[in-house]
Amino acid sequence: MAFLTRIEVTKMAVGKRSEVGLIRKNNEDSYYIDEVGGIFVVADGMGGHENGKEASRLAVDVFVEHLRQAGQEMSLTNLRDGLNKANAAVFGEQTRLAGGIMGTTFSAAVIAGDRLFLAHIGDSRIYRIRESSILQLTSDHSYLAELVRLGELDEDALKNSTQKNVLIKAVGPEAVIDGQYLLETILPEDKLLLCTDGLYNLISDDELLAVINGSQSLQEAVDRLVELALLRGGSDNITVILYEHNG
Ligand code: CA
Repeated sequence: MAFLTRIEVTKMAVGKRSEVGLIRKNNEDSYYIDEVGGIFVVADGMGGHENGKEASRLAVDVFVEHLRQAGQEMSLTNLRDGLNKANAAVFGEQTRLAGGIMGTTFSAAVIAGDRLFLAHIGDSRIYRIRESSILQLTSDHSYLAELVRLGELDEDALKNSTQKNVLIKAVGPEAVIDGQYLLETILPEDKLLLCTDGLYNLISDDELLAVINGSQSLQEAVDRLVELALLRGGSDNITVILYEHNG
């Protein structure tokens, strides 16, 4: 029985996977997981050559370092400062490149007790799965999502568009950013799904929910989701983090 107990204790509360996909040469996504500190980040870089990867990596590193230095007390101001620092770093790097485009999406979830802090910019997503419902907590800062919000395009037209990846906001391209910062409550057994567009462009919200709730473990769910996206063409980098809150 002692053996079984140990399995219980070490049961992972996070599943994760990042894949280059079947078309792209490089994986420009970056991610960060600190289970103990309750910090989860996905970032989807853009730019030629190595720029996209450098942008997503740099943004994640600067943000995480800021949280580490800021100490125990979590707040939305703290997150905003971290994202602003990440933007300054990537913007500075882009300026140094003189002409090259360099940017990244950025979606972070930070958990402190039963509070869930989110910092977000771009079109990666954070979903909350609570029992049999899935809710996208972040807004897509993409050109087409903006048209849908303004009522100039319907959801079906959005699904079929080839311009899904045109961003109106990102970390890096401009000196000042206007991110989304949210404070939510997280309940025991809530799950958080963080992913880049390489996943959700190929898998609907209903399918995400069905796979997650139909899997035996978080890692199995992540693997099934990534493999489904690959089966459907894997046209982009795919990064997925799935966390279950144990309260
Ligand atoms: Ca992408």
